[in-house]
Amino acid sequence: MPYAYDDQNIFAKILRGEIPNKTVMETEHSLAFHDIAPQAPQHVLVIPKGAYVTFDHFAAEATEAEITDYIRTIGEVARRMGVTPDAGDGYRMLSNAGQDGHQEVPHLHVHIFAGSFLGRMIDVPGHGDG
Ligand code: 5GP
Repeated sequence: MPYAYDDQNIFAKILRGEIPNKTVMETEHSLAFHDIAPQAPQHVLVIPKGAYVTFDHFAAEATEAEITDYIRTIGEVARRMGVTPDAGDGYRMLSNAGQDGHQEVPHLHVHIFAGSFLGRMIDVPGHGDG
């Protein structure tokens, strides 16, 4: 079934300027802003401006220009945060999709976490030590 995009989601409202955000970087096709409830000392969200629900949706339907812009913006945001391992102490990227991925906002976003040691990669109840 094709993705149905809900244009009332919170990030769509941010993109329309209906809700304020603390912008880190904006390009023609992408927007990066601070997460409202940071889960690490530094926590930035990077979203495409287009109406894409998940990463797979974006990968399948975005234009080459949107994809290039988005990927480069994510890298540049990490650089501006000062956390790329060549200049800083590193970071983690994460993009939740759907129910099992615990996606709360149905507009593609990559989280960039940084600013302290981030612990193990993932904690799944019933698997590993989770
Ligand atoms: P998800 O669980 O969908 O991967 O992450 C959604 C993220 O959006 C959460 O980390 C949450 O704190 C953040 N968020 C939700 N509403 C807002 C908002 O109005 N403004 C900002 N900046 N972040 C938000």
